[in-house]
Amino acid sequence: MQVERIPTLNDNYTYLVIDPETRKAAVIDAPEADPVVRRVDELGVQLTKVLSTHHHWDHSGANQALAKRYDAPVYGHSSDAGRVPALSEGLEEGDAVRVGNLEARVLFIPAHTRGHIAYAFPGAVFCGDTLFAGGCGRLFEGTPEMMHRALNEVLAKLPDETLVYCGHEYTESNLRFALTLEPGNAALQEKFRRVQAQRASRATDWHDATPAEMTIPSTLAEEKATNPFMRAHSVELQASVHRTHPGATDPVAILGAVRELKDRF
Ligand code: ZN
Ligand code: FE
Repeated sequence: MQVERIPTLNDNYTYLVIDPETRKAAVIDAPEADPVVRRVDELGVQLTKVLSTHHHWDHSGANQALAKRYDAPVYGHSSDAGRVPALSEGLEEGDAVRVGNLEARVLFIPAHTRGHIAYAFPGAVFCGDTLFAGGCGRLFEGTPEMMHRALNEVLAKLPDETLVYCGHEYTESNLRFALTLEPGNAALQEKFRRVQAQRASRATDWHDATPAEMTIPSTLAEEKATNPFMRAHSVELQASVHRTHPGATDPVAILGAVRELKDRF
């Protein structure tokens, strides 16, 4: 499977998932049509499906235009009918979505929004604004309990080597925040240095970004080692959280406290 990362808006990632055998492709989370059309033309692939992880405009704004141009169906969670633009194929937990000979399984992970889903291909998960490298999405329509389940009970069950393709290039600021909670985490320190070096030479316009400056994909193993929303078991993180949230002792309360601290960071 081939994954093309297309930089869109200011810091969004739009992805093309391509089946190398059939040259069929699906686009995931497209807010702008032009960069997608250009990449599809360059690669000479056939765009057959438009997929959204959730209804937010910066993940679905180009659905209508792309669906029309390529005569392609639009996929999203069935509960988001009327919210995901041009939605024609409502999905539920466990459904399969085929792209040529590739197949993704749908994971229902509400928290950032109540209809949020991930597309789990073998070896790669597209998780929108739920799991970010070093962070997670804001709780616009869900609770800390829902985000804990999404991150630590659903996504964390995928194999450690699974590539994590998320919705935004937020990694550097996420890791800067993570270091305030776990300054002694060696894996976190190492990743922050690596990401800072990558981002130091970035293009002024995100649309011109090259793969060298993209910190995505991450892996689930890296997230378990560095992401403060997946590290409630860390004694150092617990001590940091208890300075402001002394009552946060169980994993859900710790995640809620970390989310509050990040919202204010
Ligand atoms: Zn969002
Ligand atoms: Fe977003």
